[in-house]
Amino acid sequence: MASQEYDVIIIGGGITGAGTARDCALRGLRTLLIERHDLAAGATGRNHGLLHSGARYAVTDSESAAECIRENTILRKIASNCVEETDGLFISLPEDDIEYRKTFIESCQRAGIKAEAIDPKDAIRMEPAVNPDIIGAVKVPDASVDPFRLTTANVLDATVHGAEVMTYSEVTGFIEENGRIVGVTVRNHRSGELSEMRSAVTVNAAGIWGHAIAELAGISIGMYPAKGSLLIFGHRVNRMVINRCRKPANADILVPGDVVCVIGTTSTKVPFEDCDDIRVTADEVNLLLEEGCKLAPSISHTRVLRAYAGVRPLVASDEDPTGRSISRGIVLLDHETRDGLPGLITITGGKLTSYRLMAEQATDLVCSKLGNVKKCETALRPLPGSEEEVGISRQSDSLGRKAAGNRHGARVFQMDFADKSEVVCECEHVTRAEIEYAIKFLDVHNLIDLRRRTRIGMGTCQGSFCMLRVATVLAQALGCPEKASEFVRQYVEERWKGLTPVCWGEGIREMEFMRKQYGK
Ligand SMILES: Cc1cc2nc3c(=O)[nH]c(=O)nc-3n(C[C@H](O)[C@H](O)[C@H](O)COP(=O)(O)OP(=O)(O)OC[C@H]3O[C@@H](n4cnc5c(N)ncnc54)[C@H](O)[C@@H]3O)c2cc1C
Repeated sequence: MASQEYDVIIIGGGITGAGTARDCALRGLRTLLIERHDLAAGATGRNHGLLHSGARYAVTDSESAAECIRENTILRKIASNCVEETDGLFISLPEDDIEYRKTFIESCQRAGIKAEAIDPKDAIRMEPAVNPDIIGAVKVPDASVDPFRLTTANVLDATVHGAEVMTYSEVTGFIEENGRIVGVTVRNHRSGELSEMRSAVTVNAAGIWGHAIAELAGISIGMYPAKGSLLIFGHRVNRMVINRCRKPANADILVPGDVVCVIGTTSTKVPFEDCDDIRVTADEVNLLLEEGCKLAPSISHTRVLRAYAGVRPLVASDEDPTGRSISRGIVLLDHETRDGLPGLITITGGKLTSYRLMAEQATDLVCSKLGNVKKCETALRPLPGSEEEVGISRQSDSLGRKAAGNRHGARVFQMDFADKSEVVCECEHVTRAEIEYAIKFLDVHNLIDLRRRTRIGMGTCQGSFCMLRVATVLAQALGCPEKASEFVRQYVEERWKGLTPVCWGEGIREMEFMRKQYGK
């Protein structure tokens, strides 16, 4: 068994692990990040992509609300390439209690969130897609954020500062010596190899699977797996985020992002054993559409592209059938003081929006254990691609280069468009140059990884027209042309899960087309 030594090992390549790896690397720690699938394969790649202003939590969870607005302000600066400054509306409908609006605005103000009451007519002018029956609206600084870009940028910066990253590698156990965690055992799912990785401190950043990681160490964390389902629409109906001005409930957020929009979500407790393969049910689809139409009626006749679901990594101390009343606050556990198990800490709870702060708190604790006094710099340093001057001329650039500039920011200058500018995925304008860049720098092993790095196949055709072409380019670039059809098979299997719950009308025709194309 191969064995290597680090200062810190981080388990989980979601946004929390990625952010923690970046922070640890920037503070000069020898850092290893281990992810059992691809980056952002857990809750990080399965949410709305809402950069919360905190308004949603202002009435019910003021601490999380204040955290969100502070981090929202920071991420707009350091991750400008991943954030779209849409602003948000909280709307009241005739059946809502308009008095709630007053409490809502006051709570926002207490948490430091700018919340401005807007005349319904002005709200409709600002956001023509909003339900014209609104009786009140409040404007807040919500935004949309691309979780895949954000995770990739954090991991990229971590590696630039010396961190190592192992994807498709699962932590299968802990190495314990004299009552202390001194490392982990890892199985590489691609090679089948087993290895031992040693470190002074290990960070459990495995989201909802943090529960299972704790069990491997012989301790327990009271996690609460709350599934949420969402629908993606085939085009973007709204410019601003639209929320319902009431206590958080089902299907009350419609978030625009890139060329699509997403309605969510539901909240149901699921067994831990279901977290690896959660499916969206027909009832959830109906509920999302029914409630979603109340925010923006045009979604009733907008094509649903696909459905997906994620599991929130909540930590509960009491029973709640929906998980909605559990705090979205950050949970940092030092297992040395909590369980008498030195060498292990857990960082969980929180939100995508608060990942940087979660990472800072986890890294502060790691540093205090290692006697490292270097201060956190992640609130000030822009992420790769979000440096100020992108300098892409909007007029003269090709569509493919512009789209790559939007996705990768200043990193577009590292792409070689000379004789590779042909568009391979028409819906998202992904070029061969961008694909080759992603394969070279962004840890891509198959079509699903490539989709997360470039949005290939995420557009209207869902890969029906381009995936054979893309698979050929990918397999050639990886030096394994014989794997092209296996890549397509994996991709279609995965897409199918999201298509089947929303398969009706024209959608069936499109699925049949895909089935014929790829022999599913
Ligand atoms: C439906 C839904 C909607 C949401 N909407 C929003 C939103 O709009 N805005 C917002 O701010 N937040 C939102 N959230 C919350 C946000 O998505 C999560 O808080 C955040 O993504 C959690 O990130 P994480 O890195 O902690 O966990 P995850 O992203 O789940 O990452 C954990 C990782 O650990 C890996 N792992 C597990 N076991 C092992 C092992 N043994 N070895 C190696 N790796 C392992 C997993 O594969 C996974 O990739 C939403 C969540 C859900 C579910």
